Amino acid sequence: MKRYIDTHAHYADAAFDIDRDELIKNMFENGVVCIIDPAVDLASSVKALGIALNYNNYYCAAGIHPHEAGDASEEDYHKLASLIKDDLKNAVRKIVAVGETGLDYHYDFSPRDIQIENFRKNIRLALELGLPLIVHDREAHADCFKVLLEESAFSGKVLYHCYSGSAEYALELLKYGCMFSFGGAVTFKNAKKFDEIFKVIPPGNILPETDSPYMAPEPLRGSRNNSLNLQYIYPRLSLLTGMDETDLEVQMAENTKRFFNISDI
Ligand SMILES: [Zn+2]
Repeated sequence: MKRYIDTHAHYADAAFDIDRDELIKNMFENGVVCIIDPAVDLASSVKALGIALNYNNYYCAAGIHPHEAGDASEEDYHKLASLIKDDLKNAVRKIVAVGETGLDYHYDFSPRDIQIENFRKNIRLALELGLPLIVHDREAHADCFKVLLEESAFSGKVLYHCYSGSAEYALELLKYGCMFSFGGAVTFKNAKKFDEIFKVIPPGNILPETDSPYMAPEPLRGSRNNSLNLQYIYPRLSLLTGMDETDLEVQMAENTKRFFNISDI
């Protein structure tokens, strides 16, 4: 049996409202051993936590995505902090990171100054609470790096999700101990650049993800994604890292436990 881990899947998304429970149970019965569900705003943080409480090995992240930054109120940030602080008091923590947050200059759904302010608030929250940070950086590498440095984000743990930068930028981020997660994009036909990226990122800095319901891998591109599709992503990661699939599964489990401070998978 495979042992797949999905460090980034949005099952709180409305795309899963019709069959969420059935799908999650099915995934756990078919080789998925751990799921982390990052939120995009306060409502999805609450919803993802509610889902996480129903399953073993299902965790979530709470935070505000750059797309939603424009709609976030001061009260939302306070409620977000309280939600995380309350969870931290529990014997079994379910909120294992702050995110996803960051900057998206591709869509620019929120004004850039508001995206940056939101990113800063999420970083401060992660540092204050001692949680890892899940970063979404789309076509905003320079500002993203600048804000991470200005806020001393690298004194905590930082994960670049769905990494889309260059090998050179990855090398820079590695100096700060950054982690990188990869999903469906590594299976796309134009994915040549990943050959260069994987030459510089050591296996200990890699995490697997799907970004469900988005980013379905080949050969299912365009469909609603789910964690069972890691069956198309792991073989590609195996080729890119040069690790056989069993070793890769072990390494991904170790990386996930270490980075998110999860005791067992
Ligand atoms: Zn995402």
